[in-house]
Amino acid sequence: MQLTNENYYSKEANEEYLSVSQYKDFMGTYGKRGCEEYALAKIEGTWEENMEDSDALMVGSYVDAHFEGTLDLFKAKHPCMFKKDGGLMAKYLKANEMIQRCERDEVFSHYMSGEKQVIMTADMFGAKWKIKIDSYHPGQCIVDLKTCQSINKVFFHHDIGYMNFLAEWGYYIQGAVYQKVVEINTGKKLPFFIAAVSKEKVPDIQVIAVEQNLLDEALAEVEHNVPMILALKNKAADPTRCECCDYCKQTRVLKAPIWSSDLIGDI
Ligand SMILES: [Zn+2]
Repeated sequence: MQLTNENYYSKEANEEYLSVSQYKDFMGTYGKRGCEEYALAKIEGTWEENMEDSDALMVGSYVDAHFEGTLDLFKAKHPCMFKKDGGLMAKYLKANEMIQRCERDEVFSHYMSGEKQVIMTADMFGAKWKIKIDSYHPGQCIVDLKTCQSINKVFFHHDIGYMNFLAEWGYYIQGAVYQKVVEINTGKKLPFFIAAVSKEKVPDIQVIAVEQNLLDEALAEVEHNVPMILALKNKAADPTRCECCDYCKQTRVLKAPIWSSDLIGDI
């Protein structure tokens, strides 16, 4: 199928194409464990995430919508964010502060001034991929906008050590896939940047260049994992459950009591 802004997130598109967010649902990132059954349920449309449950996600989506130029549509879809006079409710006002912070910076604005929401597809590692670029500067660079808690926040994992928010949330994987899909389409390997804005009391901003070796590493990891994901999507393999995510909690069927010593699990 030919992808457009209208059908990009449709069930048909998600079944036919692999996306970075699907990949992360299956494989997980350091910050969020993967769950195969949940990933498939999302693709099949039997499980929907309710963004409105999280104020932080709503703020992030509002900022995204602003830079996409789709704020009117966003307002129509989420009337719960707005007061009767059309202004944002107090708990979401941070979103406007973040946007203003970004827009008064020349470098940030320049990086975000590319072609917006550019859709590309490519065959890669045996799968059909779809990507949507936040700000594409043809022949120059690929930019993705990210809202985060704090740009300098450090995450610790006892088996790996310290990592930044790009590694924590799988943004190297995203950069690697976007770069490769653009290269397949245009023949040009472009640098990948994250334009980041934080949700802190005083919003912080940076444009972050992603080192090529980190993109290469992430792409090799993607290549390794795609066959399993395709097998799951094609129902040639049985999905496993993480038993931790909201989907698994919602669909858990008890078979027998567990031992109290099972509660701490694999820590
Ligand atoms: Zn799960």
